[in-house]
Amino acid sequence: MRSFVTHLESALDGTKLSADEPRTLHRDRPLWVRYDLDAVARAVSPAALRDRPPTMWRYRELLPPAGDAEIITLGEGMTPLLPADRLAKRFGLRHVFIKDESQLPTGSFKSRGLAMAMTMAVRFGITRIAIPTAGNAGGAAAAYAARAGIEAFVFMPDDTPEINQYECLAAGARTFLVNGLITDCGRIVREGTAAMGWFDLSTLKEPYRIEGKKTMGLELAEQRQWKLPDVILYPTGGGTGLIGMWKAFDELAQLGWLKSDKLPRMVAVQSDGCAPIVRAFDAGERFAEPFENAATLAAGIRVPAAIGDFMILDAVRASGGRAVAVREAKIREWMRMTISCEGISICPEAAACVGALEQLAEEGWIGADEEVVIYNTGAAQKYPAAMAGELPRIDKDAPLDWDRIARGG
Ligand SMILES: *Cc1c(COP(=O)(O)O)cnc(C)c1O
Repeated sequence: MRSFVTHLESALDGTKLSADEPRTLHRDRPLWVRYDLDAVARAVSPAALRDRPPTMWRYRELLPPAGDAEIITLGEGMTPLLPADRLAKRFGLRHVFIKDESQLPTGSFKSRGLAMAMTMAVRFGITRIAIPTAGNAGGAAAAYAARAGIEAFVFMPDDTPEINQYECLAAGARTFLVNGLITDCGRIVREGTAAMGWFDLSTLKEPYRIEGKKTMGLELAEQRQWKLPDVILYPTGGGTGLIGMWKAFDELAQLGWLKSDKLPRMVAVQSDGCAPIVRAFDAGERFAEPFENAATLAAGIRVPAAIGDFMILDAVRASGGRAVAVREAKIREWMRMTISCEGISICPEAAACVGALEQLAEEGWIGADEEVVIYNTGAAQKYPAAMAGELPRIDKDAPLDWDRIARGG
């Protein structure tokens, strides 16, 4: 496979580094993967993509190089973009869509980043990885490590949704519960690098997960015939997805593939129980202070400090977007409301985006005729506690009460 990657570049100060060896951070901050986009434009066109398999690897010229046999894959990519008309109507809008990432392997969009990161780790001869996780990244890392036949160590808060704990266990990762937050797990992984000889696969600490997440943006563009929506609502934790999509749009613009110069306004959505990015956005800061006592049902966005904070904030501001915190207490309600009116299995993180949709539509910041895309980053089924409720019972020996059954309770 021909490589179009030219180098890696510090997101903080632009320092160029070679992409020929495994790398982590530069001055404690993330690296971008850079491409020769002129060469990409000569090698491939939108029309040439049409006959390729419906996975994220169809964009391989815009991804780090890997031969067919080297790709660690579970068939990730090409998730549906579903119209959500009934939901839209509730908020006085007409064009709301949900990009349903719950249908990916391991039930969340973390598959994209980890398929890419694991493919590169194996290419570089790495045989042992470690990852701190709020839940889904651990599950995906465990699955892709099993797929690759390499050893994985996963560290998660001890109140991480149970399914995430069990999926790591099932995939054979050495998995540990930590009585703290993802930031505490991150410290353990960092400290273990010397003693355990593992490669740190933390969000944004190696450059390739962004490239996998980038395919969320490439897909959206291709599914919409290279015309992007007006607004994207994205549940933001570490921010890889938002950063990756913005990078995708920038690369597509440079390639000349987009039908319009107008890029979407990116909205970083957080819960008011953990909103470091929103606080920094409101204060006009480029870096975010750690959020004390972070607590939210939406485990994937319970990230009190993000190493790519400035990359998220730069993207949001460059796009003319916003960072919005929604009420933690209402997440469960938005989740149930969306699933019951659209049938789409949305996770609590995406439910926060529904809350943001409600707020921004009410404020008039999103116009009735604007096109809005919400990313459903994971499957509701991974959060049994968030879905739980009491079901009415029927006594098989008692006479049936049809009025009660008709009421559902
Ligand atoms: C990880 C995660 C997020 C946050 O994603 P980032 O790109 O790291 O901000 C949102 N939703 C779910 C379900 C997640 O697992």
